[in-house]
Amino acid sequence: MSFKGLVEMRCPGGCQPFEAEVWSFVRGDRDPDLREKIMAGEMNLLICPECNQTFYGEEPLIYYDPSMELFAFVFPASYEKEKSRWQEKMEADFANFQASLPEAQWLHDAPLLFFGIEGLQQMLVEEQGLLDEVEVIEHICVALGLSLYRSCISYARKRHIPSLLPLDGAVESMGKAERLRDRILKGLRKVLATNGQMETYRNYLAELEKNTQDKSIPPTCKKQ
Ligand SMILES: [Zn+2]
Repeated sequence: MSFKGLVEMRCPGGCQPFEAEVWSFVRGDRDPDLREKIMAGEMNLLICPECNQTFYGEEPLIYYDPSMELFAFVFPASYEKEKSRWQEKMEADFANFQASLPEAQWLHDAPLLFFGIEGLQQMLVEEQGLLDEVEVIEHICVALGLSLYRSCISYARKRHIPSLLPLDGAVESMGKAERLRDRILKGLRKVLATNGQMETYRNYLAELEKNTQDKSIPPTCKKQ
């Protein structure tokens, strides 16, 4: 459930203040239209009734999408001057929020902090591009009889790599990390031979092929 409230706003032109509805909590997974709004740069975009100027109604906003392991605080851009103060507030608020959830729903990582909505907007747009690739990958994997390896989303986000990877062979025989890495490599090559357009996957394959010394693979979610 997302929340909005009536807030007194004043346009940058210094006109008379007016009351406007401003979103303060957005559940990205349950309200895809609000997620779209952020991606389109229209979240809390207001029009001054006096001079018709458009501007962002900048109020603190929380964006939460457990399906993407994402919890982000968006503070007004002007708050960046007191970054450490808001960092502390964020950590305290997040600890309270986390404590209100059953342990199975806890997030693995610290929340993200943005000053101004543009940072979150950019991140969601990038992740949407990746989600589109993931959808294609899932179809190709089914068609080629490949399995899927799901790594931790927050781990993948930090490294700009896909969290869902094609795995050559059956999922039951997971095996050791070294063997898994080999199967991911094979899976990626097979998938990309079918469709070479997927940039994030192509980049990840190139990275794996370059780092031949590294035998690690992205970890799965701790909670699983
Ligand atoms: Zn105005």
